[in-house]
Amino acid sequence: MPDMPSPRLYPARERTVASPARDLAAELNAEQGAAATHGEGPLLIIAGAGTGKTRTLVYRVAHLIERGVSPERILLLTFTRRAAHEMLSRAEKLVGSASKRVQGGTFHATGHRLLRQFGPDAGLPKDFSIMDQGDAEDLMQLARASLGYGKQEKRFPKKESLHYIYSRHLNTEKPVEQILQQEYAQFVEFSRDIVRIFAEYTSRKSERNLVDYDDLLLFWAMMLEQSPSLADRICGLYDHVLVDEYQDTNLLQARILRGLCRHHANITVVGDDAQSIYSFRGAHFRNILDFPKHFPNAQIVALEQNYRSTQPILDVTNTIISRALERFTKTLWTQRGGTDAPWLVTARDEQQQTRFVVDRILELHEEGTPLKEIAVLVRAGYMSADLEIELTNRNIPFEKWGGLKFLEAAHVKDVLAFLRVLENPRDEVSWYRILMLMPGIGDVTARAMMESMADRSWDPDAFSHFVPPARARDAHRGLADLIRRLRGARREDGGVGEDIDEIRALYDSILSERYDRSEPRLADLDQLRVIAAGYPSRSVFLAALALEPPSSTQDLAGGSESDNDALVISTVHSAKGKEWDAVFVIWAVDGWFPSSRSMDDEDQLEEERRLMYVATTRARNHLAVTYPLNVYATRRGQDYSIDQLSRFLDRGVRDKMQRVVPQEPAAPPPAGGAPLPASTEPAIDLRALLRGRFGG
Ligand code: ATP
Ligand code: MG
Repeated sequence: MPDMPSPRLYPARERTVASPARDLAAELNAEQGAAATHGEGPLLIIAGAGTGKTRTLVYRVAHLIERGVSPERILLLTFTRRAAHEMLSRAEKLVGSASKRVQGGTFHATGHRLLRQFGPDAGLPKDFSIMDQGDAEDLMQLARASLGYGKQEKRFPKKESLHYIYSRHLNTEKPVEQILQQEYAQFVEFSRDIVRIFAEYTSRKSERNLVDYDDLLLFWAMMLEQSPSLADRICGLYDHVLVDEYQDTNLLQARILRGLCRHHANITVVGDDAQSIYSFRGAHFRNILDFPKHFPNAQIVALEQNYRSTQPILDVTNTIISRALERFTKTLWTQRGGTDAPWLVTARDEQQQTRFVVDRILELHEEGTPLKEIAVLVRAGYMSADLEIELTNRNIPFEKWGGLKFLEAAHVKDVLAFLRVLENPRDEVSWYRILMLMPGIGDVTARAMMESMADRSWDPDAFSHFVPPARARDAHRGLADLIRRLRGARREDGGVGEDIDEIRALYDSILSERYDRSEPRLADLDQLRVIAAGYPSRSVFLAALALEPPSSTQDLAGGSESDNDALVISTVHSAKGKEWDAVFVIWAVDGWFPSSRSMDDEDQLEEERRLMYVATTRARNHLAVTYPLNVYATRRGQDYSIDQLSRFLDRGVRDKMQRVVPQEPAAPPPAGGAPLPASTEPAIDLRALLRGRFGG
């Protein structure tokens, strides 16, 4: 073939959308517009639900780009990846594809990106692995055991409590002693021991090259605060920082933002103190109220017009939140009329509640509401079990958000542990998990193996050099072979899927031995493989799973959101920031919502109230709150009185709702002979007869 000159590259043009067609004044009200076009310096938008905070932020991103700020120098921090994605695709409709280059995502994902980039200059090797909460608890357990705690007579905090206290300490900056006094008075006497365990945990993390969720934020803050040169480089990346849902950030995140904006103070945050629902992660609504203190000269915008809900819905939600003990944002109003007051539905029991919800969903659907415009919200993931069964039986498609247990399942974590030791041979938690799976290897051998690997500085061949006791020889050989094969494999495009196939060649039989019914678990692993195949490399896959695990069954299936018309079932936490045409809040029972655990603590009860506010403010046109009268106390939380309507629906709230009682379907004619008259003595006593058989 003759020498062809190399082809000329034809660059794609940036897709821009003509801006004169846009009339800002028609799309935003005056306050929103002023906020969107705000110039330099700190800006706080603090306002109630549905007042257009998120919308204003989208317009602000678009405005900045139009004004000539480079999209990649804008950082948009949101609560989920999904939220960032949605906001940027809305911005794209306004200013075209340039908005794709905006840096967006969660605090944790952004921290992760920066640590990969700048960590090596801060003493953090590039190939660290991320531990999720479960891993962090396991490592805490290893630290606790290695110091000999947990064997005493006295009750000592468990790994989960230790991790919680540790994380709370970092995120709230409260001293450990104080956290113990406030939340774990029974452990105050152990406070020195607990701090020793934390020290051990921390040094184990660094020896094993592991990073936990808190580190992602803490290290980010420390790079900004403790190294002027690193701080300059990191701050230099962004000209504008914008944050949605600011009420759910904590002190550590506020510190990060202060660090990021030390040169320009171009920070915009939006939020609603009445929707702060993440105190268990150390968030506090004070943080948003303190914004003007952290960022002097902040301009503050308050919005009071709600654009989401009809007035009857707002009447109810305004009343619910008016009972809060502390609140900054104001009562909302709307121009959206409407005559249909929200429904308060009293069902006889769970079955009737389920049947009502399904029937009403079908009715709305027949009237033209797409299923994906309808959501059922629950306080906790398990509360939708009965509904999910009924929807499945009746062939109504749904997707579930939040409370997804897939990635926490032991068998999924097992397979991931194999991938993780490949990625980071020092990952002690994953090693221990794998070793304990292997037939013939118990705790003693597993620990001996890990010690010998540590002695060889965790070099990749350390494992195969271990000389196992006879009992463990086969298992050792099998595992060493697998690891060698996987390490040697040369794969095209990622190949995480193929890695999983190899791992399963060893693991599936272990799994079948362990469980009586292995099929559903094997199906989970098939699913994991499908997900894995979409990632370019093992490290990207592992980081994504740890940081932004799929949050809905839809994400898992890999489908895009708009394709399917499916009902949404969501926890209230995962419904934050969203809206639907019709919303059902089910299980409005005291002890369930508010949850029984929150009932003796004023702060927690207040947070549950805000959760109820978040739930009910998701509705545009139809809102129904349902509760069953008879709750059979066979489920969790039996220490509450049953059959009581949630205290948040007090008389004042109920007065603004309409009572609805589902009717039973017409009873079928009685089968068989005529019923016996009620007063008749029983013909026989079956129980007595049975007792008689055993001489009772
Ligand atoms: P939340 O507190 O629940 O996060 P929010 O304050 O972020 O709510 P948005 O989600 O931005 O509110 O807006 C609520 C709804 O109102 C959206 O459908 C949005 O498009 C619409 N909306 C907001 N402002 C306007 C406006 N000026 N004109 C028309 N629609 C608006
Ligand atoms: Mg919002």
